[in-house]
Amino acid sequence: MRFNELIKSKTFLFSIVIVFVYILISAIIYDFIILKMERDIKTDNNIQLRIIKLSKSINLVIDSAQDVVRFSRKNDKKRLKLSLSRLTSTINLTDKRFKELSEGLKKAPSLYNIILPYEKKVYSNWKNLTVPILTALATYHKIMAKSVFMDPIFIAMYKSVPYYAPLAELGIEHQIKDALYFNFILKLFFIIVSFFFFIILLVFLFIISDNELKIKQSEKKYRMLFNGIGDAIFVIEYSKDGIPKSFVDVNEAGLKRLGYNKDDFLKLSPLDIIPKADYGRMKHYLKELFLKSSLTYEANHLTKNGKIIQVEALDNVFDIGKTKMGVCIARDISSRKALEEKLLDYSLKYTELIEFLPIGVYQSTTDEEGRFIDVNNYMINTFEAGSKEELMNAKIAGLYLEGEGRADVIKNIMKDGVYKFEGKRRTLKGRIIDVYIACRLKKDDDGKNIIDCVLLDLTKEKELENKLKESEEFFRIMVNSMAEGVYINDTRIIYANPAAIEFFGYQEKDLYGMYVWDLFDEKDKALVKANIERRLKGEQFYFEYTFHTLSKKGEEKYVLFHVQTVVYQGRFVALAIFFDITAKVLLEKELEKEKLHFQELSETDHLMGIFNRRKFEKYLNEYVKLALRYNRPLSLIMFDIDHFKEINDSYGHQIGDNILIELAGLVKTNLRETDFFARFGGEEFMILMPETNLAYAEAKAESLRKLIEGNTFKYIHRLTCSFGVVEYGKKDSTGNTQEAILTNLIKRVDNALYRAKESGRNRVERGT
Ligand code: GH3
Ligand code: MG
Ligand code: MG
Repeated sequence: MRFNELIKSKTFLFSIVIVFVYILISAIIYDFIILKMERDIKTDNNIQLRIIKLSKSINLVIDSAQDVVRFSRKNDKKRLKLSLSRLTSTINLTDKRFKELSEGLKKAPSLYNIILPYEKKVYSNWKNLTVPILTALATYHKIMAKSVFMDPIFIAMYKSVPYYAPLAELGIEHQIKDALYFNFILKLFFIIVSFFFFIILLVFLFIISDNELKIKQSEKKYRMLFNGIGDAIFVIEYSKDGIPKSFVDVNEAGLKRLGYNKDDFLKLSPLDIIPKADYGRMKHYLKELFLKSSLTYEANHLTKNGKIIQVEALDNVFDIGKTKMGVCIARDISSRKALEEKLLDYSLKYTELIEFLPIGVYQSTTDEEGRFIDVNNYMINTFEAGSKEELMNAKIAGLYLEGEGRADVIKNIMKDGVYKFEGKRRTLKGRIIDVYIACRLKKDDDGKNIIDCVLLDLTKEKELENKLKESEEFFRIMVNSMAEGVYINDTRIIYANPAAIEFFGYQEKDLYGMYVWDLFDEKDKALVKANIERRLKGEQFYFEYTFHTLSKKGEEKYVLFHVQTVVYQGRFVALAIFFDITAKVLLEKELEKEKLHFQELSETDHLMGIFNRRKFEKYLNEYVKLALRYNRPLSLIMFDIDHFKEINDSYGHQIGDNILIELAGLVKTNLRETDFFARFGGEEFMILMPETNLAYAEAKAESLRKLIEGNTFKYIHRLTCSFGVVEYGKKDSTGNTQEAILTNLIKRVDNALYRAKESGRNRVERGT
């Protein structure tokens, strides 16, 4: 609170007055005590006067005594005599006045005991007044002159007593001190009490003033609110029988709305702002208002111009003293009413919509058995009811499956106001359906609890979900039990089946996240990396490849990969299925070796069904031995197809093979039983002719050349061969081993054939 606000407040001024009055009273009380004491001195007998008189007479005695002293020194006998007689008369006077004072003091008991003994002493000693007494008096005089203690009672007393005698000598010092002390304590007491009283008063004053200001401020605040509020507020005084008598106050909004100024408005009767047609209704409201002391209702207010404004009024009535008062807060609801009407219009439209929504909408009661208050078409269809009535007549609890209580659902709705859940229900035809229900607690127009719900039939979705789950399960089992490794990867492994995990030999958690190419041998890494890059871009290509791969243990393995680009979780990844074919590859290698071995052992050429080189050499060896031993002729023809490479190149190897077969057949049928026909290698042939000389063999070769040249082959029009012919002779065998003889013979026929080729092909050359 600010100081200037404080000093303006009434309480402050009042408090100041109180403080002054207090001070005044204290002063009066104080003065009363003191004056009483003073009055004691100034009794009817006028003690003070008597004291003054006594002191004056004593002064006179002193003066006379001094005169006596002085004139006796000067030896002025005349004046001495005079002063002595004056001394005598002043002493008599003093005596008399002392007696008067004593009499007076008897009537002032408070002083009597103080002053009288002193006076007595003075009286008894005055006759012996001498210089020391005077000196003492003078000294005392000085002391008293310096005294600053200005207490009226003591001043009065001192004023009366200083001329009597030094106090110390008179022995009443302590009594005076006691009196002074008492006076001091008394004063102190007054000061302290006054001080505390003053402080308490100040505090009290501040509290009061503060509260007063607060009240003022809050009054200001409420006045502002009162006027600032958008709703009209009327303060009304009612008669004892509850009839609105007059307006006591109205806020700005009320005036503005009804079009009045405040003075005019306060002259109105509250009934003036109610249309006459509403009087009956208002009467009813007033009755209810006085019963409940607070009431909200809708009413019409009449403006100055006769316009009707729809309001929602909140009325409160209360008693102030014996007066019945009321406050009416009226909110303008004209626009709200208009909106409400629109809303009603809309809501009718929406009700139609709700009927055909592809979702169940219903309202139900909150009791445990449960009844539908309203349902839409979807609900009728979902619960397989024949008609709306049939479903409306059904107990909701009856739609629950055995062992599922509606009580729990209701409990949850009541607890939180909303409740969403999935569950199973039974239709009226007994079919079990899966549903999703979302409920909300609501009050109906009568304030009763009801439940608003939406319902979705999830049966089909659930079936699909179950199927999906089953197929998922199926594929999971399949992939997990597959002997083939399966993995999905981007640049790293995302998923691997047990077979793949076992194959690579890593822990599952270590394998996930590994770069795929790190699983491959150094020479395959670049290819794997390039392929993955293509796949992550979405390129679709099938890839089958036998990798040379490495497991964690570093074993070398042959693996056949089938890789495809697939979409997984919305992005391109690679799906790899691989077979460990290490065992197969090793077996094949083994088989290949064995095959070669067996082919060597066999004697016929598989392609042409004629003898092979191995068999030919065996025969040649036998016949050469015979020819040598029995000196029998033996000839050898060697021929080779001309430009067969070109035939292979232009017709293909397969056709080449067929031509070889046809050629061998042609030659074979044109030989004697005794001639030995063999494939020497590739497309080179040998004809061993026992008991045949060179000329015959040469002629035979020539006839074969012509035969071939003239033959129309199945796949080719023209085919020619070049021939070499030799007869076994002495030059082959001299000094040579059997092996060298064979080598020489074959070398010679080969040379002859070479010469035939050199000389233009398709010809026969004799060996040298
Ligand atoms: P030229 O007779 O003038 O020397 O020519 P050329 O092309 O025949 O040469 P060469 O005799 O050196 O080539 C033989 C070719 O015969 C090589 C090979 O491709 C082919 N050949 C060898 N054996 C077979 C076989 O069993 N089937 C097939 N189709 N071709 C074979
Ligand atoms: Mg050839
Ligand atoms: Mg050849």
